Amino acid sequence: MKLPFLGACLVSLFAASAAVAAPPHEHGVARLDVAVEAGRITLMLEMPLDSLVGFERAPRDEAEREAAKVAVARLRDAARLFRADPAAQCKPAVAEIDGGPLTGGASHDGHADADASYTLECAAAERAAFVDTGLLESFPRLRIVNVQVATPKGQWKAMLSRPMTRLPLVR
Ligand SMILES: [Zn+2]
Repeated sequence: MKLPFLGACLVSLFAASAAVAAPPHEHGVARLDVAVEAGRITLMLEMPLDSLVGFERAPRDEAEREAAKVAVARLRDAARLFRADPAAQCKPAVAEIDGGPLTGGASHDGHADADASYTLECAAAERAAFVDTGLLESFPRLRIVNVQVATPKGQWKAMLSRPMTRLPLVR
């Protein structure tokens, strides 16, 4: 589980640069960090719970518990959320999920995120020209995915919004 370590890095970066609290997330907007390296494509997703289930705390009744169950199952459905270019010869993605209050965690100042990481083991990761994403199909409340791509050939930002669900991995 690498998420807590990464979180600590981000917090110290913020502290060093501005000495202010991280800005609150924007509902409807998720963040996706994609790393392409030898043998592997890794995707780290951070999404406001509002975009996942419409509330940002532990479920309070049967309907909310059901909504949480469905949302977490969709987050876990890595093969539907991320399909790499067949040229990269990847195995189906493997997911690690932290659903925040949906999976027993806490919310902060009334807001909460779900964090998920997806790993694809690939025989030829460097040949992947794209990843097809199912995020906007699986989560109707989500409008925009801000993406940061890092490959051996460079780093850049990208954005996904309907109907654009294919993320290019080459420029
Ligand atoms: Zn929120």
